Amino acid sequence: MKSLKEPFINHINGIVENNESFDAFLEKKLKNKERINTVKKLAIYIVFFDSLIFSQNFENSMQVFFFSRRSMYDYIAAYYHPDMGNYGFETYNIYIPSTKRIQRRPIISFDKNGKIPYEEYKDIPIATKEEVLISVAAHEVRHRLQYNNLVEPIKRNSVSRNKKVNGFIQYNAIELEWMRKFFCQNNYPEEFIKNRMSNEEFDASLIELIILSQIRDNASVEKVIKTLKMEI
Ligand SMILES: [Zn+2]
Repeated sequence: MKSLKEPFINHINGIVENNESFDAFLEKKLKNKERINTVKKLAIYIVFFDSLIFSQNFENSMQVFFFSRRSMYDYIAAYYHPDMGNYGFETYNIYIPSTKRIQRRPIISFDKNGKIPYEEYKDIPIATKEEVLISVAAHEVRHRLQYNNLVEPIKRNSVSRNKKVNGFIQYNAIELEWMRKFFCQNNYPEEFIKNRMSNEEFDASLIELIILSQIRDNASVEKVIKTLKMEI
């Protein structure tokens, strides 16, 4: 993923609240340099993927809005918002305080036979923050593809001819089930749980998982974009 560079920040044009510069806005909201970097990079990666999928012309790229409040459940850092009449256009929303919740995570991968290529749990590599941000951005852009009916979501019971992909589907189903139990035990609202368990979330989480492993394998941007548009 060598081509992901800073200049894309210039194309983020949806700063709400006032007209100050992006940097000034973030510096006012966040004192911590690392946190500023996290928010910036998340926005850059979203715009990068979105531009490659939806337009060759960066001027027409998606609006990214930044909110200085937490998302509804403080669990979601970035959110694709379809045009529901709120703004008159689609947006990606980044909830600045909730970006604190973006954590490093294990990189799950599967070999060509659909098996996990690790003997022990401790051998599973852990993604860097940067890798996680890229995969989270891909997740959100996948939602835009879904809502515009440009991809048929991959479901829990979908079966691919590619055993590697099937490994990811099965793993993702188990992980989401584990999350469902966690949400229930912690009394998350029913509506929230229903949304997190939807076919759209299953599909976007699956793409996120696959792309996370591809980044670690130094996949080309072309390969990652192909995964972002994957159908079975
Ligand atoms: Zn999602």
